[in-house]
Amino acid sequence: MKTETNHKILFEHVKIGPKTTKNRFYQVPHCNGMGHRWPRSMAEMRSVKAEGGWGVVCTEECSIHPTSDLTPATLMRLWDDSDLPVHELMINKVHEHGALAGVQLVHNGQSVSNYLTRMPALAPSAAPTEASNSTQARGMDKADIKELRRWFREAALRSRRAGYDIVYVYAAHGIMTLLFQFLLKRFNQRTDEYGGSLTNRVRLLREVLEDTKDAVGHDCAVALRFAVDELLGEDGMNVAEAQDIVGSLAEVPDLWDVNVADWGNDSLPSRFGSEGSQEEYIKFVKQMTTKPVVGVGRFTSPDTMVSQVKRGVLDLIGAARPSIADPYLPTKILEGRSDEIRECIGCNMCTSGDFIAYPMRCTQNPTMGEEWRKGWHPEKISKATSNDKVLVVGSGPSGLEATLALSNRGYDVTMAEAKTELGGRVLQETKLKALSEWKRVSDHRTYMLSSRGNVQTFVDSPLSAEDILELGCNHVAIATGSKWRTDFVGAHHRKPVSTSTTNMIYTPEDVFDGRQPSGKIVVYDDDHYYLGSAIAEHLAEAGNEVVLVTPDADIASWTHNTLENSHIQTRLRELGVKIITHHAAKSVDEGSVTIECVYIGTETRIEANAIVPVTSRHSIDGLYNELLEMSDQWLDHNVKSVTRIGDCYAPGTIAMAVYSGHEYARNLEVPVDHNALLKRENDFEIHKFKEGNLL
Ligand code: ADP
Ligand code: SF4
Repeated sequence: MKTETNHKILFEHVKIGPKTTKNRFYQVPHCNGMGHRWPRSMAEMRSVKAEGGWGVVCTEECSIHPTSDLTPATLMRLWDDSDLPVHELMINKVHEHGALAGVQLVHNGQSVSNYLTRMPALAPSAAPTEASNSTQARGMDKADIKELRRWFREAALRSRRAGYDIVYVYAAHGIMTLLFQFLLKRFNQRTDEYGGSLTNRVRLLREVLEDTKDAVGHDCAVALRFAVDELLGEDGMNVAEAQDIVGSLAEVPDLWDVNVADWGNDSLPSRFGSEGSQEEYIKFVKQMTTKPVVGVGRFTSPDTMVSQVKRGVLDLIGAARPSIADPYLPTKILEGRSDEIRECIGCNMCTSGDFIAYPMRCTQNPTMGEEWRKGWHPEKISKATSNDKVLVVGSGPSGLEATLALSNRGYDVTMAEAKTELGGRVLQETKLKALSEWKRVSDHRTYMLSSRGNVQTFVDSPLSAEDILELGCNHVAIATGSKWRTDFVGAHHRKPVSTSTTNMIYTPEDVFDGRQPSGKIVVYDDDHYYLGSAIAEHLAEAGNEVVLVTPDADIASWTHNTLENSHIQTRLRELGVKIITHHAAKSVDEGSVTIECVYIGTETRIEANAIVPVTSRHSIDGLYNELLEMSDQWLDHNVKSVTRIGDCYAPGTIAMAVYSGHEYARNLEVPVDHNALLKRENDFEIHKFKEGNLL
């Protein structure tokens, strides 16, 4: 297939200092929860992206010194030469596919834990650290600044030795980086030549940039990552100061990588912003420099990318999340298959990998993080070894993904869905405006399946156990999903709460289907992820008086890991939603809901005409159990296996359901090695790996 004519501009070479990229697709540095702790997983994940056509593939931020220790986070380190093999492994793999490799060197200043190194943190001026553990960062003296410059220089030299093509100086993401902390009046109260005027506050950044160019600039491109706006007005970096900074450093770096801060504004969840949302902030940069500019905006549409380049906003299309959701995005555009791009939905499940320090996963791309451990590839899958036929019952994320992956393997698949449209819970949940972009999960799979000769899809087809046996498919995947409980069992209440009436209780499914209550409504969230707050938002927008109650200390507490929480807090307050934390449901009576303090049991009665509990779910596994009871008839109908997948097996996130469907398809008729443990990278192995024994 051929590249569409108007997309060809995306495959032009771009010169970055002494290096040249093969195209404009630039995977900007991004965290992944693997880093130095799971180096093989990290290297293979980056390798697949280079293979998928990204012209530049960068590491996440990489600490230059033990005073910048983010333990328990797993980010990269270049503290001494013993860190080099981890980098070399990744760089070699990236180079094998013709991409440039970049490293984002950082000192995190006061945004560190130093739990591992036990060293005092450093800051422009003495200040509490971001660890919120009663420790303070030391205000740096001149000797510290000299040392810092030396550490940056040594890390740059080490980066060159490792084989990197692009070496970053990192001054972005608000409080996360020391060089940015120096730029900001609220963190820099120095009275020497490194504080006060803007020229003084920029001094250290300029020195580090010039030192880096001096150290490695002949061989490596030197990039500056800079946040042009923190969206805090006068208190933070703002467009006026940013223009002065870009103006004064315009030609110093070889590449400007620009964005907005903090991370929650940069990796803006789709609930709060759409593709290309940073343009209005960053577009001035290209007017002030002749050097190439890269920026991000959850770009998944090649037409939007082309427009950014043609209108002179960006030279390089930066991407973190779109490259996670579809590592083959550039190849698909190159081959004129942009309709096959698995578009990022902006859920930020991936960012949780960094916050929780585990190898990240992606809702759209179930192979993410499994490239090394399970050998999963986003575009390749083993072929079926038989002509067996498979029936998938249910078309939620697990059923759809199982069907698509089975079809990719070459199986003949029949998918039956009880409802009139495919999509299951995705179709339901995305009726809430806040989650509408998540529909890409079912849209992508439904579209891909529409052209498959080996897939038959039936809607409006609720199957019974007898129907399933009658169909005579050899393997049956039961993907019938789950339903929300109404008895308040959740993370807090482990046994049902008795209520004097059930008339007032509405389920999330009622809300999705428009059977929604009106008036004064309590949303009771004991699930703690996105749904409780999204339902509260939906009901408030419809003009209801909404009270959001949770036993937790915070609303939607898991969304701190997905960078959604502060946006959710703001939106609910703006909509007038009343928030009550630390309270559990006690009873529901006609016209009121009683809640109690989780610590001392003090009761509060809320007048309300409805309550929507978002607590936990029951698997819908009746069909599966019936089939098990009929197992003596399987042979007569050629049925060899019946398997539960997705929420039917264990209710979880959409990411888990997709993963479950994918795993089922990968493993069907593949011999299982019951003695094989999960492939691991433990500390002992890493030690041996560094010694070169396992390379
Ligand atoms: P998951 O998240 O595991 O994919 P979902 O709840 O999203 O599960 O989807 C389950 C789907 O299965 C729903 O669309 C539901 O209508 C469908 N379904 C449930 N029971 C049957 C059945 N007996 N026959 C066909 N489809 C069914
Ligand atoms: Fe996009 Fe969600 Fe995947 Fe992250 S986890 S890349 S936000 S689809």
